[in-house]
Amino acid sequence: MKQSVKLIAGNWKMNGLAADLNAVVQDLKAALQTEPAACRVALCPPATLIGRLADAVRGHAIEVGGQDCRAETHGAYTGGVSAEMLKDAGATLVIVGHSERRQEFGESDLLVSAKAEAAVAAGLSPIICVGETLEQRQAGRAVEVVREQVMNSLPHAVTGRNFAVAYEPVWAIGTGLTPTLEQIEEVHRAVRAAMLERLGLGGAPAPILYGGSVKPDNARDILAVPEVGGALVGGASLKAADFLPIIRAA
Ligand code: PGA
Repeated sequence: MKQSVKLIAGNWKMNGLAADLNAVVQDLKAALQTEPAACRVALCPPATLIGRLADAVRGHAIEVGGQDCRAETHGAYTGGVSAEMLKDAGATLVIVGHSERRQEFGESDLLVSAKAEAAVAAGLSPIICVGETLEQRQAGRAVEVVREQVMNSLPHAVTGRNFAVAYEPVWAIGTGLTPTLEQIEEVHRAVRAAMLERLGLGGAPAPILYGGSVKPDNARDILAVPEVGGALVGGASLKAADFLPIIRAA
């Protein structure tokens, strides 16, 4: 079967001011104009920079994403950002259910599913994050936990290519630790099986990204694992010098 195009998405988390974005985007655009990427490339900066990013990449093959959205469309939610607002600012993607939000804000699978549904309704492609904690991995429950998250975090509005799933083991995020390639393959296969169970054939085409300490020196091996359809990259997406080699590895 023909390998479909991978998605390499940078998650800036709460990092970056306008000057940082300008510098990275300038380097990315120059490099990708000289040699186009073989994959899809996306950046998910803080909400304050989405409009600026969208303006800067217009006409370039760089996609724009948010890092979260509210499940509601509008209303009295001080500080909240809706999916439609992200779309209006120029985004086409949005990360939902990142483990930092699941942990810090107690976001449940149910809420993540509602956010993903709101994203699709606004015309955005959600990147729905799942992943086990170290405790769950050590208890031998990684596959079971991730399967459960996929079954409960994917609304029926997601289908085909209008979304992605990101498998991010919590213990691998920002730690420099990664699962073995065999462990990554095992979970990604389980994620695909759960997607098919949940969505039928609509669960077949969407990419399953791996995230958690993806770096220039491990990207090629990770991206070659069966069912790894791309990467969600945190720390290594903040500098073009780190992000570009990961893009080139896809
Ligand atoms: P990291 O973060 O690449 O810095 O480990 C990944 C993520 O949280 O999406």
